[in-house]
Amino acid sequence: MLAQEIIAQKRDGGTLSNEQIRFMVEGLTSETISEGQVAAFAMAVFFRGMELSERVALTLAMRDSGSVLSWDLPGPVVDKHSSGGVGDNVSLMLAPALAACGAYVPMISGRGLGHTGGTLDKLDAIPGYVSQPDEETITKVVRNVGCAVIGQTPNVAPADRRFYGIRDVTGTVESVDLITASILSKKLAAGLQGLVLDVKCGSGAFMSNLDDARALARSLVDVANGAGCPTRALITDMNEPLASCAGNAIETANAVRFLRGDEIDGRLYDVTVALGGNLLAECGLAEGRDDGAAKIREAFSSGAAAEIFGRMVTELGGPSDFMEGFEGHLARAPVVHEVTADQSGFVDAIDTFALGMAVVELGGGRRRASDKIDPSVGLLHCAGLGGWMEPDTPLVLIHAASHADAEKAEQRVRNAYSISDTCPPENPLIIERVT
Ligand code: URA
Repeated sequence: MLAQEIIAQKRDGGTLSNEQIRFMVEGLTSETISEGQVAAFAMAVFFRGMELSERVALTLAMRDSGSVLSWDLPGPVVDKHSSGGVGDNVSLMLAPALAACGAYVPMISGRGLGHTGGTLDKLDAIPGYVSQPDEETITKVVRNVGCAVIGQTPNVAPADRRFYGIRDVTGTVESVDLITASILSKKLAAGLQGLVLDVKCGSGAFMSNLDDARALARSLVDVANGAGCPTRALITDMNEPLASCAGNAIETANAVRFLRGDEIDGRLYDVTVALGGNLLAECGLAEGRDDGAAKIREAFSSGAAAEIFGRMVTELGGPSDFMEGFEGHLARAPVVHEVTADQSGFVDAIDTFALGMAVVELGGGRRRASDKIDPSVGLLHCAGLGGWMEPDTPLVLIHAASHADAEKAEQRVRNAYSISDTCPPENPLIIERVT
């Protein structure tokens, strides 16, 4: 087989066989196929698309380019993936809640991308927490505790690492076929028996319109099921931050308060429960999604999820008293700056992307992959859509490294909030379910 023949076949709109796709992925991993050929292949796929059979073959070949975990556990091995948003710390609550319900959760998570936060960056805010342990530690913690929220080891889907790097600089990241294979190859390398996807839609999501979110959800669900992993997706609203805050230590503290029952953001609770309920139903640990949702609620109200989260933190190197003493363990920004509304009215729109970028600019996200993150900065107590404001009502509390940074962020925050006399209609939180 020759790479140039396979590229030409795709360029001309042909359908590739399983063998041809495996050949390309093997060459991608071993670097026997040049960067130029990989780029041409990606561009051919971008324009011509892939059939379902090709997407499944690409996903499985990329999954198999590295090690695939296998398990022998008394419950199903499951995970959740989010397409990324602002104030989306669902993983921190959902992983221990699923474990409390009898599932095992090796949750392989990523770093922040663009304006969105990353689960790994939030966990790195915990002193001592080893977010990228070796395979042996992952296996041990999942077995003993029930969940391990961790990052990709170097041997997870190495084909994706090279492929993503080339796509990133050749204008081919946006292909839904390639996004599908990229996300699922890494997720399925954890040896999953069930997966739920949270595809975000709205001003703070990568998919700002419903048609695009549907296309991504459909592709992910079809390919994951085609690859043998029972999967469903929820399309959920991202027209405002999901938690009432954004930032790394800030979202970790928000998750601990949620798990302890001190302070629970309603929209965050509802999305977490819906995702968990669907996943428990999918993997046979609940009779249906309502029963699944009831089990997740019980995991929170009983304190079981909180207890598991605390044990996971300790087993992965974090403080043994994290659940009690989290405020003393998490970094705090030196400057706290309140932004108040400048007129009375309802919050009728939020540019959630801009709020995410405010966190990046404060130092809580990266402009380049090599940037170091300041875990302490971010936005707290963000006013939500439909909230009534008076001229001195707080909109957001900015946590910043300096007064100059806080003032820059204030401008972004003000521009992100639109206030008017009209109360906006309530956006459905769970927009659609894709099975
Ligand atoms: N996230 C991934 O892991 N891969 C993509 O291609 C896009 C987003």
